[in-house]
Amino acid sequence: MQGQVPQTEDAVGSQYVVIGGPERKAERTNIIVMKFGGTSVADATCIKRVANRIVDARKAGHPVVAVVSARGDTTDELIELAKEISENPPAREMDMLLSTGERISAALVAMAIHELGYDAISLTGSQAGIVTDTVHTKAKILDIRPQRISRALEEDKIVLVAGFQGVSTNQDVTTLGRGGSDTTAVALAAALGAEACMIFTDVDGIYTTDPRIVPEARKLDFISNDEMLELTASGAKVMMLRSIEVARRFDVPLWVRSSFTDAPGTLIGQEEKGMEQAIVSGVTYALGDAKVTIHDLPDRVGVAAKVFTTLARANVNVDVIIQNVSAGGAADISFTADENDLPKITAVLDGLKGELGFSSFDLDKEVAKVTLVGAGMKTYPGIAAKMFETLAENNINIEMISTSSIKISCVIRKAQVETAVKALHAAFKLHEDMVSREEIFS
Ligand code: ADP
Ligand code: ASP
Ligand code: MG
Repeated sequence: MQGQVPQTEDAVGSQYVVIGGPERKAERTNIIVMKFGGTSVADATCIKRVANRIVDARKAGHPVVAVVSARGDTTDELIELAKEISENPPAREMDMLLSTGERISAALVAMAIHELGYDAISLTGSQAGIVTDTVHTKAKILDIRPQRISRALEEDKIVLVAGFQGVSTNQDVTTLGRGGSDTTAVALAAALGAEACMIFTDVDGIYTTDPRIVPEARKLDFISNDEMLELTASGAKVMMLRSIEVARRFDVPLWVRSSFTDAPGTLIGQEEKGMEQAIVSGVTYALGDAKVTIHDLPDRVGVAAKVFTTLARANVNVDVIIQNVSAGGAADISFTADENDLPKITAVLDGLKGELGFSSFDLDKEVAKVTLVGAGMKTYPGIAAKMFETLAENNINIEMISTSSIKISCVIRKAQVETAVKALHAAFKLHEDMVSREEIFS
C-alpha cells in the first residue's frame, strides 16, 4: 500500500517544511516515522526485533521511515577512542567519526529487513536531505529536502535513516549533539507530514521521574508539549530537548514507547482545553551544572548587564541567577552554568575583574538542581512552599530557586540529589494518578 507521499521536483524547501525557516506544514500523510535508540539496536537479536517491528508497521499499511541510533555504547566508545589519539580533536573530524555509528545500525537493520522479504534502503543524514548549519558536534537542522526518501517510499521501499547527523551548508558531515537521533526523527516526521513519530526506547514511556532512581515512578499516558519541554530542559534525559521543540512547533504527534513490548507508551501532544491537568507531573534532576559566585560587585546600573552580556558573547549559557545586596553598596551574584564551560567563565571573569572592581569569584561543582514540573501549578498555590518544606524535612539546604509558571527548581548539594528526588516524588504522591490538592496537603 502506498502512502500519499508529497512529491516535488525542485530542491530547497519547496512545499516541504523548512525547519528553522518559514513555517509551512507539510500535508498529512499516513507515513510513520519510527526511531530506535542505542539499546534497541545493541546486537543482532535486537536488530532482528527492530526489523520485525518495522515490517509489522509496513504490513499494517504504512510507508515507514525508520531512524536509528548507534548500537549500544558505540558513540561513547568512539569519543573515548578519539581522546586516546588527541586531547582536542578537530570538531569536523569528530563528526566524521561519530556519524559512522548510526550508519552501521542503518545498514544492518536494512539487511535484516531484506531477510524478512521486504525491500529496504539505508541512507546517511546527507542522503536523507538533512541540511544543517556549520556548527560541528552540535549542528542545528536548517532544512529538510526529503526527495530521496519520498522517491524510495514511492518505490515501496522501507527507508532507514542514520540518525544524529546531517550535511552542513559547507557540505561537511555534521552531528546534532548527544541524543540527536530523536531530533532527526521528529524533524523528518514534520517534513514528511507523518501521521505519527514513534520513539522506541528502553523504557515504556515518560515517567513521573527517572525510573532508575525511583522504582515507584509512574508511567504517564499523556504529557503536554509544554510540560515535556520543562522536564527535558530541567534534566530528564529521555528525549533530546530540541526534538520536543520541533514537535511542538510543527505539531507532530509524538509517542515514546518500549522497543521490547507492545504497550502503547506516552503521547506527547498539545494540551486540549478543559483537559484535566495534574498539579505536578514529574520531578527531574540535573547534575552537570556548576555554581559561580562573584563577590562584592559594585551595586550600580549596568554591572549585571556587563557580566551576562560578556558571558553570552563567550557562548556560555547561564541558568539560575540570584543576587544578594550586601552592606556598603556591593552585591554578590551567583549563577549556574554547564560545568564544561568553567574554563570560559574563568577567562571572562578574570577579564572583567579590573573593569568592574569586584573582589573575587569562586566555582563550585558540587551542586545539583531538582525541579518539579506541572501544568496545574499555574492555578494551585502552595506548591513551592510544600517543595521547600519537603527539602527542609530531609535536611536539604536550598541554595538557589527559580520558577516559571509550570516549574520550580532548587539548587542543592549534589550529594543530596537522590534523597531530594525520592522525597519530592513521595511528598507529591506522584506514584498515584490524578492526586487532588487536598491529598497533597493532607
Ligand atoms: P535511547 O538510547 O533509546 O535514546 P535514552 O537512554 O536516551 O534512550 O533514554 C531512555 C532513558 O531515559 C531511560 O532508560 C531512563 O532511565 C531515562 N529517563 C530519565 N528520566 C526519565 C523519565 N522521566 N521517564 C522515562 N525515562 C527517563
Ligand atoms: N548516538 C548518539 C548519542 O549517543 C545519538 C543518539 O543516540 O541519539 O548521543
Ligand atoms: Mg536518547
